Amino acid sequence: MFGEISEAQRQAADAAPGVLTVDLAALAANYRLLCRQTGPARVAGVVKADAYGLGAARVAPALYAAGCRDFFIAQFGEALDLQPVLAADAQLYVLNGLQPGAEPRCAEAGIIPVLNSLEQLDNWSRLALARGVILPALLQFDTGMSRLGLSPEEVELLAESPVRLAGIKVLHVMSHLASADDPLSAQNAEQLVAMRRFAARFPGATPSFANSGGLFLDADYHGALVRPGIALYGGAPNLARPNPMQPVVRLDLRVIQTRTVPAGTRIGYGGTHVTRSERRLATLAAGYADGLPRSLSDRGAAYAGATRLPIVGRVSMDSLTVDVTALPPGALRLGSLVEMIGPHQTLDALASDAGTLSYEILTGLGARFHRLAR
Ligand SMILES: *Cc1c(COP(=O)(O)O)cnc(C)c1O
Repeated sequence: MFGEISEAQRQAADAAPGVLTVDLAALAANYRLLCRQTGPARVAGVVKADAYGLGAARVAPALYAAGCRDFFIAQFGEALDLQPVLAADAQLYVLNGLQPGAEPRCAEAGIIPVLNSLEQLDNWSRLALARGVILPALLQFDTGMSRLGLSPEEVELLAESPVRLAGIKVLHVMSHLASADDPLSAQNAEQLVAMRRFAARFPGATPSFANSGGLFLDADYHGALVRPGIALYGGAPNLARPNPMQPVVRLDLRVIQTRTVPAGTRIGYGGTHVTRSERRLATLAAGYADGLPRSLSDRGAAYAGATRLPIVGRVSMDSLTVDVTALPPGALRLGSLVEMIGPHQTLDALASDAGTLSYEILTGLGARFHRLAR
């Protein structure tokens, strides 16, 4: 798996508690699949939170090379960090909108804010008028998530005084789906109705609506600019159907100790696991500080090839213990690697064992892993 890496990289990987490999070719293939899925709509890349923890400085240029020109991040600071690694014709958008005072820098950098309230809209308009320029923006409506975006009351207020939009060019009207990963949820259709009602008030601006899940709902949800995140990174866009995306992430953990214990041996903090027979164990070099949640205690597994190695006892901060009795004696030793995410255990399967989502696993994967992109 370390195909074409340098000796220095190999040494760094050898010393690290684990190796996190990001497959940029699979990322690009996923981008192209989403483009085919959405037809005429433009496909942006959501690269917030350091591209879901995978490294935006590598991920965003790889998406750009695959044809992506629109990049969404959550916070203005992330946009400033990312801008230098992208070509000048890449457009960055700030999902969370701007804090008061950030407007001039945002305008000067050519970064486009999502305006989530009348207050943010007024601030953007004031700057445009003061400078005698037209400033672009996306205008978000709250269609049912009560998180970000103009409320229905604010939309009414804006309709009564359209002058508040002076100096602003609304490129897209936008909203976000709360239940798009569940195609059967009635909330999807409710939000679509609300989105259409709002969008009708801004006939000059095309909609941006779908995230990964929304992209796999029918074309009514696509609008003009779709905003997938997790699907690019190989996560299942919806939980009801087989995952059409290619895996992008692989995580292998180092074995740091092996032992054989008799029946009746307690394992880990709290002694929650007691062996019922003689077992062979391996301690792996990553724990909850590396983003492997404590909820995997006595539930999750690692893999050696196709062999499942159940996690026994509690996940510690810097290590966890797996039962390797199913492997031939001596198959694993100090320095061996075992798979945590890869061909035998998908990201979604690991997340499900942890009682969480692929999103939370990805964004939590720690800085101590050696990171490779290929
Ligand atoms: C995070 C986010 C997305 C991407 O969502 P995925 O489910 O990862 O595709 C799109 N739009 C908004 C507003 C978001 O916050």
